[in-house]
Amino acid sequence: MSDCIFCKIAAGEMASEMVYQDERVVAFKDIRPVAPVHILIIPRKHIPDLTAITEEDAGLIGHLHLVAVKIARELGLADRGFRLVNNCKQEGGQVIYHLHYHLLGGRQLKNIC
Ligand code: AMP
Ligand code: ZN
Repeated sequence: MSDCIFCKIAAGEMASEMVYQDERVVAFKDIRPVAPVHILIIPRKHIPDLTAITEEDAGLIGHLHLVAVKIARELGLADRGFRLVNNCKQEGGQVIYHLHYHLLGGRQLKNIC
């Protein structure tokens, strides 16, 4: 997707504070952090939102979760705890339509549900 900023970040065409990358997944710091740790984890593949995943993406989504735990562990959050959030479409609060998960931690997070 040529007009997608997260595709551009994944391709290295737009600046970001990258914290992890492999052949399937990229993770970078959120530009407006709401917690001491606020990292966005995205697939390189352009998937607009969570409802667009298919059976074919099951391995990719599983891998993304493993990467999230790996990053959390490296940042010392595995024992303290953290939150992995996907905002899906309008009422879920999604603003950027390239699938992404927010990894939040480093402070006590309030329950939202
Ligand atoms: P969402 O509301 O789930 O779509 O979240 C989009 C997130 O992307 C927000 O937390 C923004 O602060 C973040 N964001 C937007 N542009 C950038 C960027 N260029 N680099 C890093 N994070 C960004
Ligand atoms: Zn994209």
